[in-house]
Amino acid sequence: MIKTLNIKSSSKTEFIDITDEIHEAVKESGVKNGICYICVPHTTAGVTINEGADPSVKRDILTTLNRLIPFEGDYRHMEGNSAAHIKSSLVGVSANVLIEDGKAILGTWQSVYFCEFDGPRHRRAIVKIINAIGATPQEE
Ligand code: ZN
Repeated sequence: MIKTLNIKSSSKTEFIDITDEIHEAVKESGVKNGICYICVPHTTAGVTINEGADPSVKRDILTTLNRLIPFEGDYRHMEGNSAAHIKSSLVGVSANVLIEDGKAILGTWQSVYFCEFDGPRHRRAIVKIINAIGATPQEE
């Protein structure tokens, strides 16, 4: 099963929590054991998994990325958004979550974030649920 999440960012840089949508996609798929592959088809955005309990964590990640990779710098890219391209490559454009017993396995404090680095824009995240047919039997 493949599903497109339509995401609307409202700031230049922003982490948007898509954890609920991931759980929903896994549930809809009916897959009991497999992999949930999340892909962001953009060059100035990304996806990451990190703490969702304390909102200060996503704030700290974002402000640190913005400090390390300033919007203005010795960049040559004509479009003027090199900082966003660099952040996208650093964070990455895909993430995987294992599915066991019909549920996405995330730690108690983990959330899945769509990472906007050149907003505000309309964005997409593609979620592919892969059924683990032919998986090796559990070693128990
Ligand atoms: Zn560009």
